[in-house]
Amino acid sequence: MDLSALSPDYVRAIAPYVPGKPISEVARELGIPEERIVKLASNENPMGPSPAVVAAVTRALAELTRYPDGNAFELKRALGRFLGVAEDSLVLGNGSNDTLELAAAAFLRPGDEAVYSQYSFAVYPLATQARGANGIVVPARDFGCDLPAMRAAVTGRTRIVFVANPNNPTGTWVAPAPMKAFIASIPPEVLIVLDEAYNEYLPPEDRADSVGWIRQHPNLLVSRTFSKAYGLAALRVGYAVMDPAVAAVLNRVRQPFNVNSLGQVAALAALADQDYVARSHAANRDGLAMLIAGLERLGVAFIPSRGNFICARVGDAAAVFRRLLEQGVIVRPVANYGMPEHLRISVGLPEENRRFLDALAVALGK
Ligand SMILES: *Cc1c(COP(=O)(O)O)cnc(C)c1O
Repeated sequence: MDLSALSPDYVRAIAPYVPGKPISEVARELGIPEERIVKLASNENPMGPSPAVVAAVTRALAELTRYPDGNAFELKRALGRFLGVAEDSLVLGNGSNDTLELAAAAFLRPGDEAVYSQYSFAVYPLATQARGANGIVVPARDFGCDLPAMRAAVTGRTRIVFVANPNNPTGTWVAPAPMKAFIASIPPEVLIVLDEAYNEYLPPEDRADSVGWIRQHPNLLVSRTFSKAYGLAALRVGYAVMDPAVAAVLNRVRQPFNVNSLGQVAALAALADQDYVARSHAANRDGLAMLIAGLERLGVAFIPSRGNFICARVGDAAAVFRRLLEQGVIVRPVANYGMPEHLRISVGLPEENRRFLDALAVALGK
């Protein structure tokens, strides 16, 4: 008997998430020493963690036999102060991926609809389909969210609208004013999940007061993460800000200890080290400019990006991906997003960006 047949159709229909290829796997498969491999495939912070984080995690190692604080008292208090919100409007996640899943678990029933854009983050369809809900994919415009079309796709069955700003994998971005107008246009009984995983990579003057909008729009949930500019991808800590009534239902479907102890102390130390975040921002701005200049030199088209990554149009992306891999450079194919001619390249350290650009020139025969 095929036991997988016992699983609901809508679960079996899910296309599994395709992560960036790990360095160890490339080393094994291609016989390249790990230290020769450059990974620019998962939008990680290339700077390594803040020394304050390493110190905090090291101290916390002595307590590994204890369960974490399930309510993450200290981290929530610090985040509440940092954001100017009450602690009962915060929900923490095992990465912000978890908070996206919690929103879906709390609001989607089989047959409901969730609206999101073409080329938006892969987790939105995963979270939607796992509940037997239907994902309504709205065609993108110039690879970005077509907000009027997304508004028009909202029906009486819509429970959630997912929108990433900046968006991954395209790097496209919507300015605060049109985003605020879009949020105001969505019926109050539809939850808007505004995914700001790359918020810290925007220059401060372009960052929206999205958390402040929640007071006026209690159907807005703003999701952020410690995985990207804060440099903590391995420890899996994300958070979302929302109306306390919304937080109350998300907390009902949350695992009691979904944020581990090391993640909690690391996030607390990372939040306190805003200097690291500012340096991440500046390094990314310079690294992105370096990648853009290199792509232009090679005559390779790209999608303008506001994140810590960029999508380049290389033609047969699967073939170029292989040729980069053979030179020890891992980037991210995005064919699973319906973009078979693009590769997504995360911004690395200057030397890593140079390695990528040199390898790309070889891969393209230039
Ligand atoms: C990376 C990313 C996330 C979250 O990652 P976590 O590590 O789970 O916090 C969320 N949304 C988008 C758009 C991302 O690219």
